[in-house]
Amino acid sequence: MDLILKNARLIDQAAPTDIGITNGAIAAVEKNLAADTRSIDLGGRLVCSGFIETHIHLDKSCILDRCESKRGDLEEAISEGAKAKAAFTPEDVRARAIGTLEKAILQGTTHMRTHLEVDPGVGLRSLEGVLPLIKEYAWAIDLQICVFPQEGLLNNPGTDELMVAALERGCRAVGAAPYTDSNPHGQIDRVFEMARQFDVDIDMHLDFGPTPDNMDVEHVCRRTDEHKYGGRVAIGHVTKATGLSMPAFDAMAKRLADAGVALTVLPSTDLYLMGRHHTQDHNVPRGVVPAHKLLHHGVNCSLSSNNVLNPFTPFGDCSLIRIANLYANIAQVGKQADMKACFDMVTRRPAKLMRLTQYGVAVGNAADLVVLDATEPEMAVAELNPVLYAFKRGRMTVSREPARLHRPG
Ligand SMILES: [Zn+2]
Repeated sequence: MDLILKNARLIDQAAPTDIGITNGAIAAVEKNLAADTRSIDLGGRLVCSGFIETHIHLDKSCILDRCESKRGDLEEAISEGAKAKAAFTPEDVRARAIGTLEKAILQGTTHMRTHLEVDPGVGLRSLEGVLPLIKEYAWAIDLQICVFPQEGLLNNPGTDELMVAALERGCRAVGAAPYTDSNPHGQIDRVFEMARQFDVDIDMHLDFGPTPDNMDVEHVCRRTDEHKYGGRVAIGHVTKATGLSMPAFDAMAKRLADAGVALTVLPSTDLYLMGRHHTQDHNVPRGVVPAHKLLHHGVNCSLSSNNVLNPFTPFGDCSLIRIANLYANIAQVGKQADMKACFDMVTRRPAKLMRLTQYGVAVGNAADLVVLDATEPEMAVAELNPVLYAFKRGRMTVSREPARLHRPG
């Protein structure tokens, strides 16, 4: 053994155990492992595989000081983002992406899918800023890039070629933003073609609007079936679904589950951008899809940060446990089983969404672990317990001292 984590509390196990790590992998999970090697006594604290961010935008994070947010709606955020993006250089993108990536690592995130924009305005400059970070930060995080056309595809000549170039340079997923396209279904169809050509997964921004009209979710499910892409397609936001009646919502859930399309809720962005169309100054709709209800229908869901300190979301510390807590608050999660499901939606469920193998605390899996100052996942969500350690392939990447009271005398 290279390292033993002693007195580790695992999810669904009442009594603490030990975790032995060899060559970056979990070699043993059993009580009283002999410790003639380096060991850390965790005192019964919760250990699980690292947090997984399936939907974040490193390339346009931390640009608040360059943008206005007067209306605070999606259209303004896209246009302010486009203006700022025109001046991006690879060096500028790199510096901001590193700042955000390191914040995520410090919060215990060990896997990330960052969505990245290409179009004639920014060209491949954002890709050039982010791509080298995959190797440079492999010591702490598995980073993959999902390339997508934020400002439209069929309406924006030159974008298609740039997406193909980005896929040729190693993007592992392809995304979409059909609501900015002159032909939303045409964009979705072209994205499926690209995914098939490069054998990559699909992760689309979809149905990001205030009312449930003209939803694209059925079209995506149909294409998923036709291309036999079930289990490889995710859609994000889908805020339009918050306007569906409960029977219509349940029907959508069944359709997603049958097609194998996962859904990612981005609570911070959805709360900030949605409801702006509301004509009254009170009872503003919040626009966050109740993901835990989709789970009950068999849909796979994740919760993610999306944007950090930009006109889409002027907040962000890259803490996924905070996002889970934010979601639980706004979605009125009260049952302990649903609270635990919120934890699952930043850990094992996004692992499934990204088709990660070797995830979870079990012998043979990668030792990508976090230690929380908690004993149960549902309480970690409720109390926002901090990450005390993170490990990537068995090597410690983060440590944090628990806060201490200094009483007088
Ligand atoms: Zn996004």
